[in-house]
Amino acid sequence: MSIGISMCRAGRTRTAEELLGDADTAAYEAKARGRERWIVFDDQLQAAAQRRLDVESGLRMAIANSDIEAFFQPIVSVRDGRTIGAEALVRWRTADGVLGPGQFLDVAEDAGLMPDVGKIMIDATIAAAEHFATIGCPINMSLNVSDPELKVPGFCDALIARVLEAGLEPSSFLIEITESAVLAIDPALPVLRQLRGAGFRIGLDDFGTGFSSLAHLRELPIDVVKVDRSFVADLPTDPVTHAVTASLVSLCGALALDVVMEGIETPDQAAAVLEIGGTVAQGYLYHRPMPIDDLESVLMAER
Ligand code: C2E
Ligand code: MG
Ligand code: MG
Repeated sequence: MSIGISMCRAGRTRTAEELLGDADTAAYEAKARGRERWIVFDDQLQAAAQRRLDVESGLRMAIANSDIEAFFQPIVSVRDGRTIGAEALVRWRTADGVLGPGQFLDVAEDAGLMPDVGKIMIDATIAAAEHFATIGCPINMSLNVSDPELKVPGFCDALIARVLEAGLEPSSFLIEITESAVLAIDPALPVLRQLRGAGFRIGLDDFGTGFSSLAHLRELPIDVVKVDRSFVADLPTDPVTHAVTASLVSLCGALALDVVMEGIETPDQAAAVLEIGGTVAQGYLYHRPMPIDDLESVLMAER
């Protein structure tokens, strides 16, 4: 059982509704901390709740005002650093600068705004792919899709229609999902199979965090495994990480799965990736996520 407690302290005024709301927030916190406990609503929870409210209302405005946009991070060949694709990553443009998903995606999820954010990202990514095809630099695009989006009825049909309308090949899109999303969607398999049946490629993101079930590698309808950057970080220095990652890369090869190594930051890491047979990567060593105009400059320069 999870219990949330709120009190009206001396000198403060709270309506009954506010008090119940506070207790509700505290009960949620009790659940988030693993249930079987009670939490008293305090100033810290108050501040966190206020932050969420502020982020949520700001986000709603940003969605309406087109302040949510896609940045793109090149995915490269480790051998020569050349761009072979790009991953679309959501950004929120504010007066104080550009915010990353870590600063608002949790709130978007709780507030049920992921489908709206996802729609913006799909539109932006298809538009970008269309643009690069038109200027003679066709490029494969990766899209992150969360479980609330996959659960929207008709999600697959709409995505397939959008890509075909734009005259693009579904096979030039990688749909990135996480294992936790796969487990959260019931039923996930038909959705993934429908996307794959239409020609999309499916990628398992952040592999190595969370469950990292080898059974998933074998059983899920996937084409690509994105190995989490925590593996890459210690690859050159830690023999155990090296052994595990090398085995993972060779296992993926045996299962005919493509591998993308995430988060390459140093030449040592790139060398270690090559040494264990990794050929495709993304990371700050090559490029940071960037606006579409900068991606165009990268592609033009490489041409
Ligand atoms: P992800 O899909 O695993 O994306 C890779 C993240 O790693 C990006 O963070 C990227 O900027 C970061 N990264 C890339 N190279 C390096 C590196 O060399 N070092 C380090 N330290 N980090 C690197 P970002 O953009 O903050 O995105 C974080 C996560 O938010 C993504 O992880 C993805 O799970 C989620 N996300 C981003 N955009 C979307 C979206 O449009 N829809 C959904 N559903 N999720 C998204
Ligand atoms: Mg991703
Ligand atoms: Mg990832």
